[in-house]
Order: sequence, then structure tokens, then C-alpha cells
Amino acid sequence: MNLNRLLLTGISCFIFLSGCATQKTPVKKVNKVPTNQTYKYSQGTTVNTSINNSTQNKSNIDKIDKNNIAKLKDYKVSTDYFPSISQDERVRFLVLHYTAINTDLSLKVLTQKDVSAHYLVNDYDDKTINLLVDETKRAWHAGVSSWKGIDNLNFTSIGIEIVNLGNTTSPNYYAPYPEYQIKKVGQLTQDIVNRYGILPTNVVGHSDIAPGRKPDPGPLFPWKQLYTEYGVGAWYDDVDKLLFIDEYPWDTTSTYFVTDVQNSLNKYGYKIPVTGIMDTQTKKVIIAFQMHFRPEKYDGTIDAETWAILKALNKKYNP
Ligand SMILES: [Zn+2]
Repeated sequence: MNLNRLLLTGISCFIFLSGCATQKTPVKKVNKVPTNQTYKYSQGTTVNTSINNSTQNKSNIDKIDKNNIAKLKDYKVSTDYFPSISQDERVRFLVLHYTAINTDLSLKVLTQKDVSAHYLVNDYDDKTINLLVDETKRAWHAGVSSWKGIDNLNFTSIGIEIVNLGNTTSPNYYAPYPEYQIKKVGQLTQDIVNRYGILPTNVVGHSDIAPGRKPDPGPLFPWKQLYTEYGVGAWYDDVDKLLFIDEYPWDTTSTYFVTDVQNSLNKYGYKIPVTGIMDTQTKKVIIAFQMHFRPEKYDGTIDAETWAILKALNKKYNP
């Protein structure tokens, strides 16, 4: 590789990103990264301040996790050039689940079987949340999954299991989440999202990333409350929803309409083949979408309200 060319590209990239950030890109607060430097994130967000190398390296050597540096018998690993400016977080998604079993059993299964999550939120009215897997490690919670074109989300996510029986007692009855449990989930998710700078649209349910295969965290999970009270996850603006309801097309059976729906769901993050046909997979994805954003009715039909919410979300988060 031509290093000179790479250097020049890097410099022009730096200038471009700085300009972008000062013009219109909203500066997003991202913790765990040093100040006095320009960082580029995969989402195109930049945190831009001036470089001050003399204090930069010194101040950040303290932040190195000494356990995560190679310890060699014959060589010293130098941190003189730490940190490189080209880096971002490995964790990009936050995935929420329900366990479908009680707390005791959840602890047993999630620590002794071939399934796990980083955190377990019990259903007791106490002050405890269990850490089961270190955040730097991969937990096995997502399985076959996809979001925004990225598969196998175990690699790139933090997983939270919430103790809730879901619809295990009856197919049409979902167990509610008590308020004290949601408060735990709210604080925990807020902390994680802030530390990793996770985008609102990357806070998802298992059902979103595995539609049809997984129903959790189910239609009673209060996504709207999480958004309004903790600033976690995505939610549409009512004014946009009402606007789009008026634009709901009269012919909802045409290939054109179905293709548009599939493209819109794709754009938001769901994995869905664009076939132009209202096929089984499309219905499964619509049900997952409704469970998240229109839980009052999740029948897999793209009615006016469902359609308008989808459009409003894309307008807000994927313009
Ligand atoms: Zn799950």
C-alpha cells in the first residue's frame, strides 16, 4: 500500500470531516474516547476538537486497560503513539430480550447452558442487576440475526435479558413488565447507550433482528416509555405520523406499494427480501415492527397507521 497516498487521503479526510462537523452534522456525545482529537464513527458522526499531542498521549495512557495489553517476555509494548485516531466502538447495537422463565431458572440457564447475555434484569423489586458476561466479551443471545445489513449481532452488541414470562402461559396473553423493573431497564440501557454512543435505531428487540423466529421482548415492552423517560431508542413524531396517514395510498395491493413497504422496512433496519409480494416473511417483519412501534395491534397488515409510523421513523432517522 502506498503510505504517502494514504497519508494525503487521511489529511483530506480529516479536513472534510472537520468541515462537516462544523456545518451541519450534529455533534454526538460519545464517552470513552479521548478529547482533543477528531474521531470518525461509522455512522458519519464526528467529535471534532483540536489536536494537542503533548498532553494527548499522557492523559490517555491512564485509560489503557492494563489487562488488555500484550505482556511479552523479551519485549516492551510501547504506548507512546496511543491512541490511534482511526477507531470506533465494537459495540454498535443494544438488543433487548425477555427470558420467558423465572429469575432463578434464568440465572441457571444463562450461566450454565450454551446461551447467555451481558446483563440479566430480574423481576424483583430490589436494587440488583446481574452482570453475567463482561461487556468486552461476546455473549450468546442473538443467534441468527440481522439489522441494517449486519448479521450475527452477537459480535457487535450488548445483550440484556429481562425476566418476563412473555406469552408462555397462553399464546395470546403477554405478561406485563412491572414499573420497578422498567426503571432498572431504563437506567441500565441509558448508561450503555451513552457509553458506546449507540444510535437510537440500533436499540432493538430480539424480534426486530430475528422476525418470526423470536417474539421477545413482546408487545408489552414499553419502548415509548424508554424513549420519552430515558432517551433510549427510537420513536416517531406524532405530527409526522398524522401527516403520513393522510398520504396512505388507496391501492395497497399493487406491486409498487408492497415494494415500497419492503424498501422502507429495509431502510429502517429490518432484513426483508424485496419481492413486491406480501409474502410470509414480509408479514413476519410487519408483525415485529408493529410489536415495537404499534403494539395495540400486531396482525401483520400494513394499515394506514403502521405505514405512517414507518414513514415517520424513516423521515426522522434516515432522511
Ligand atoms: Zn431473545
